[in-house]
Amino acid sequence: MAIAEERSRRLSLWSQLQTSGVTDLEPGYLRQLGVYGGAQGIWVDKARTRSVSKDGNGITVSILHTGLHYPDDLSDDGMIYHYPVTRRPPSRDAAEVQATKNAAQANMPIFVILPGEKRATRRSVKIGWVVDADDASKQFLILFGAQEPAYIPPAPISSPFQLVDNSPVGTAQTKVRKGQQRFRFHVMAQFGCKCAVCSITHPSLIKAAHIRGKADKGSDDWRNGIPLCSTHHDAFDAHLFAIEPDTLSIAAAPGVSCESIGIHALKLTPTSQQPHLDALRWRFNRTLSRWSAQQSD
Ligand SMILES: [Zn+2]
Repeated sequence: MAIAEERSRRLSLWSQLQTSGVTDLEPGYLRQLGVYGGAQGIWVDKARTRSVSKDGNGITVSILHTGLHYPDDLSDDGMIYHYPVTRRPPSRDAAEVQATKNAAQANMPIFVILPGEKRATRRSVKIGWVVDADDASKQFLILFGAQEPAYIPPAPISSPFQLVDNSPVGTAQTKVRKGQQRFRFHVMAQFGCKCAVCSITHPSLIKAAHIRGKADKGSDDWRNGIPLCSTHHDAFDAHLFAIEPDTLSIAAAPGVSCESIGIHALKLTPTSQQPHLDALRWRFNRTLSRWSAQQSD
């Protein structure tokens, strides 16, 4: 009962916010409404939510996303939120992570606080749902919307794989935006938050690359993805290196040394699952044909 009450309190706060608009609001106004607690990342409002949660950690009310450090994490329909790593005692970070997982478990919407669109000192607000959490890559997947979204969990490794997304071009454009966070979240969850070909691990530098790119209608199935740092994402796009699909060994383009592009790995070594063979094969053939075209120029 308490959970249902808290859920409807949040949804009616959201309706109330609609009347004032949800962009460029005064932080003080949001505090007064009980939407936002201040400057911290995760706001649990423990006094209110402790008793609603089963474990006493409370249920996260809002999270602040500065958007500055992780530009790749935020899109129109969702975001990835990294577990807090602060200088406070670790138990506090852990309690906030748990309170955010509690929001997922209780199907409780949370508010996402973003910088104002016109003025950085103001705040914009979205309502969202924590649909997944991954302890290995330490991130939450949050989807926006006043209604709880239908969440599609990652396809099991052995399920039928579609390399090509054949939706009509019009909707495919929107889909690129729409599937983006889910795709990134699942790629990181499967492969870990680490560049596949170098040692970079910081989440702000890791991108989920499509093996068969969106320009070639590559699907948003995680098995068509590989985590790469920004530099190696560019190198991958430019076909400066290739991944041999059957052995997973890495080869630099003709006339390029692995060293010169910062690749020290001889092989792809996925932490758990490797990308789908169909994706790797398609990509390898594409790269080989680019290489031979360059050589005959
Ligand atoms: Zn890299």
